[in-house]
Amino acid sequence: MRPYVIISSLVIAALFLGFNTPSNPVYISGHIRHNPKDTSVFLAGLNVFVKGGTQILAKTNTDKNGNFNLSFTPKDEKSFEFFCYGPGTDSILIASIKTFESDTPEMIFYIPAHIKRNALGNVKCLKCNKTDEVYPIRYGDAPIYTSRTTESGEKVLSPIYKGKYQAGACIVRTAKYYCDRDKVKF
Ligand SMILES: [Zn+2]
Repeated sequence: MRPYVIISSLVIAALFLGFNTPSNPVYISGHIRHNPKDTSVFLAGLNVFVKGGTQILAKTNTDKNGNFNLSFTPKDEKSFEFFCYGPGTDSILIASIKTFESDTPEMIFYIPAHIKRNALGNVKCLKCNKTDEVYPIRYGDAPIYTSRTTESGEKVLSPIYKGKYQAGACIVRTAKYYCDRDKVKF
């Protein structure tokens, strides 16, 4: 009984201390690289920003080689979303991560990100990892907005038409997919 009590007290103490330790800032050395499947993006001078939930935690620009440094202090965010945009590039999600491996991580991002698929070949969302609300992006003429009914019975305009997200013609075609759950392109 005794060792058990000691161990559980230690575990409880560790949890307690863990939750109360102020988190350290992270200093990210980031590198944006071309995805060999689409090398159209110009890597210099891209705007990079990190979101935790709806809040922008930090933003910066890439140097001429696509490298950047970014620093912020994580709090209780469930995940961190890295986005970037630049001349002719719409805001695109390049990574969603849960934790950082150290306080000074070296991170490589691909633009567009590498696409993961499930066993059926359906594209997984970069953020929620699910496939059910992911749509390929259709580039072309004026977007066709369709109305659809939400679960609560509310009618909303949806940019999704015939199973594709309507992006319009003015955007450089970097993002290939859109997740309607997270409202992100990647
Ligand atoms: Zn998603």
